[in-house]
Amino acid sequence: MPLDSLNFHRAEYGSATTLENCEFCMRGLDSGYFNVDKYRVCSPCAVRVGDIQAANTRAVFLRSIATGSLAAAMSGLVYFSLFRLTGGWMVFAAIGVGYAIGKAMRIGSHGFGGRRYQVMAALLTYIAVILASTLAVMRSPDVPFWAYPVLLFAPFIQMFVGHFSLAALQLLFACVGMRWAWGLMAGKSLKITGPHPFGD
Ligand SMILES: [Zn+2]
Repeated sequence: MPLDSLNFHRAEYGSATTLENCEFCMRGLDSGYFNVDKYRVCSPCAVRVGDIQAANTRAVFLRSIATGSLAAAMSGLVYFSLFRLTGGWMVFAAIGVGYAIGKAMRIGSHGFGGRRYQVMAALLTYIAVILASTLAVMRSPDVPFWAYPVLLFAPFIQMFVGHFSLAALQLLFACVGMRWAWGLMAGKSLKITGPHPFGD
């Protein structure tokens, strides 16, 4: 028997039967379909995606900030200890901070991103990196808690008093981390259209 005759997957279907399935739930699409971005889906799935998207509310954003802040605190602590130990390679550690914060915010937001998430993630990364590195450089852990907001401007103050290279380095690290956090929180909102009848 020639091998060609085993090719039974290649069947011929008449144009009357549409054999497309919803790309989300695999149900057959009989009368028409909805577009969710590039996917062809059934109407229940389109409605579900719409509902989830509408739920991208303040509450989701706040939860995302909460998980992001937690990650910022933890990764900032790690950054602080690493900075005291090594000093070099800190640019990679800054990426780690941005990454941890971005990931945590994604988990908190159930995968949503967008401009406000990006701004928040970048802000948290800046806070974590600058605060941790400033505290590490100061070598005095007894900074009162109320002074922390002031420390956030430490690089700019240092520039003013002539510690230019340290300030530039800190800002460079922060920027690298922020870029990662920013990229991770890039949002996509899905475009839903339909119903489209078949044959268009
Ligand atoms: Zn479906």
